[in-house]
Amino acid sequence: MSIDFKRLTPSLCGKYSQRVGSSIMPRETDDFAYKGLCILVKMFKNCISDFVSLFGYPKMVRINSLPAFIALFLIFVVAIVAEEVEPHSLHVSKAQGQRDLAAYAKTYSNLSQWQARAKHLKQSILRGANLDPLPAPSPLRPIFGPQREYHGYTVQNVAFESVPGFFVTGNLYMPREKTGKHAGILCPHGHFADGRFRAAHQIRCATLARMGAVVFAYDMVGRGESTQMGHQQSAALTMQILNSMRAIDFLCSLPSVDAERIGVTGASGGGTQTFLLAALDERVAASAPVVMVAANYYGGCKCESGLPIHKSPEHNTNNAEIAALCAPRPLLLVSCGADWTQHTPNIEMPYIRSIFKFYNEEQAVENAHFPKQHHDYNHTKRAAVYAFFAEHLKLDHAAVTTADGAIDESDILIETPEVLKVFTDTNPRPAHAAADTRAVLRSLKKMQDRNRKEGSVKKSAS
Ligand SMILES: [Zn+2]
Repeated sequence: MSIDFKRLTPSLCGKYSQRVGSSIMPRETDDFAYKGLCILVKMFKNCISDFVSLFGYPKMVRINSLPAFIALFLIFVVAIVAEEVEPHSLHVSKAQGQRDLAAYAKTYSNLSQWQARAKHLKQSILRGANLDPLPAPSPLRPIFGPQREYHGYTVQNVAFESVPGFFVTGNLYMPREKTGKHAGILCPHGHFADGRFRAAHQIRCATLARMGAVVFAYDMVGRGESTQMGHQQSAALTMQILNSMRAIDFLCSLPSVDAERIGVTGASGGGTQTFLLAALDERVAASAPVVMVAANYYGGCKCESGLPIHKSPEHNTNNAEIAALCAPRPLLLVSCGADWTQHTPNIEMPYIRSIFKFYNEEQAVENAHFPKQHHDYNHTKRAAVYAFFAEHLKLDHAAVTTADGAIDESDILIETPEVLKVFTDTNPRPAHAAADTRAVLRSLKKMQDRNRKEGSVKKSAS
């Protein structure tokens, strides 16, 4: 017999959820009882999935008593119903988002007070992401595939180790003209289907390379070729932040990259990766999060909100404020009318701009808003980002601009996943690769312990 829990909970689901693009999103609500339920359900689900990711599914469960059987059955029912009613995220109403920003703004009134808050938030985010301390840097040991030459750019399959045994897999797009130093740009792909293999993603990376940048497109944890650990677990948040930081190390290790001109841009979940990296790593000179930054939405995946990076007993913030942590380094918010970024010009921008104002750099934060567009990273949104990076990372905008001023993305070869993959049957992932999440986290902890030890040696020596 099968029970359709979707049919059991239709009124609850219909009342509180709506479809935005390809995602089921919660409706805006100030119903505290419901929000409390959501938080409890989310905690329950996180506990279960973290347990499974760390220890695996139990091979056998022996049940000797009726009460134990009933308890297990109830847990099973709650887990399935939770999947239906849980809003996939911490999501608050527009009004609550505004109230939150107003409350944060009361905690500072000048540059030094803001800088103190910013420092505290950055430390709290790293602590919440289980990255305090950051691991001691380990050798990247990059693996480079052969370079394929196309019209104005080249593509190479690349992997490196962010911690010993964990491979970040991706593609390096470079300009054909390789004299002098080039800006370096990271392109996380977000939760869109096909990730870094997606045609729109390849077009963005190739066009930026044609403009003179060295561009690295890399897999989210558990997506594409990143199969050493799964995506739907809070550890994905930890590793994605670390992988992005190590991707900057990787770019800066290339002789052709100018470490003073590092940029990052991605949409949706890739937007989350973008503003978190810009907030936490000062080496990011300019950033462009696309269709993601909002005061009332914390991100719908565990890789965005699965760990206490927004709130803890010591701190309280939201994505709009985290995006402001990159000030005064140039920031472009790309927003649209069909998702949670629909209020950006009126809510998030004024807040973020007020922080840039402390540095007398109001013009360094911009908003490209497309009220009639959807949750994507399409041609017009890419055009806004090309212009932004051309200005702030000194790229050659004319190289991709036609006589009538339009952006030319033609003549880019869309490669198949098979061609773009680093590891193949004939070139497999090295044998020392970590086998699963537990092994990856063990490697991370080892490098964090090493950092602690080296830190204490430095302290005692000083
Ligand atoms: Zn995710």
